[in-house]
Amino acid sequence: MTKRIVVFKGKPKTYSSGDDKSIVYYEAVNFSNLPINECVSCRTRPRLSKMVRNDNSTRWFVECPACKVTGVVCKQPWKAVLMWNKSPNSVVPHYTDFWMFHLDKFKSPTDAHAWLCIVKQVLERRLADARKDSKSGKGYKKRLNGYLLLCDNAIASCKFYSKVLAVSTNNKTNREKEIQQNEQRSEGT
Ligand SMILES: [Zn+2]
Repeated sequence: MTKRIVVFKGKPKTYSSGDDKSIVYYEAVNFSNLPINECVSCRTRPRLSKMVRNDNSTRWFVECPACKVTGVVCKQPWKAVLMWNKSPNSVVPHYTDFWMFHLDKFKSPTDAHAWLCIVKQVLERRLADARKDSKSGKGYKKRLNGYLLLCDNAIASCKFYSKVLAVSTNNKTNREKEIQQNEQRSEGT
């Protein structure tokens, strides 16, 4: 079985994982325009804030304008956004909303999760290769780190929605049991 996934721009490469041959190729991601997830406590859309330190260097963090909760302070603005999105202060977007991994093709968060684990392995392998290769640029490694963070965010969403699904299935089963018991009780009378 061959699956395709678009991660970022580059030459298509085939990776194998067990019997599953996966083609992973790449698409440019605009890291300067990443969506910031809503604040979990007040559902406000937070904003990216910049601060200038004493040595004139700049740092970035995400801040909720309503409840003033802040995310991790980072050197890069995109990293501040991804760290916020991954934090408990952020709502968990549905796994099919992770546009870059095309997860809307998967029927369940468990299937999407399995696929993302392959993608993560590929990204980690690429990053390890890039670290060994003196010719690979800093920008490339930074981007790979960014994709890994995005991949982690998507994995967290899959895990979250698998639990939600499991809970709703259990609830349904309990409800069905209750109905059955009630029916048996009324039959007995
Ligand atoms: Zn808030």
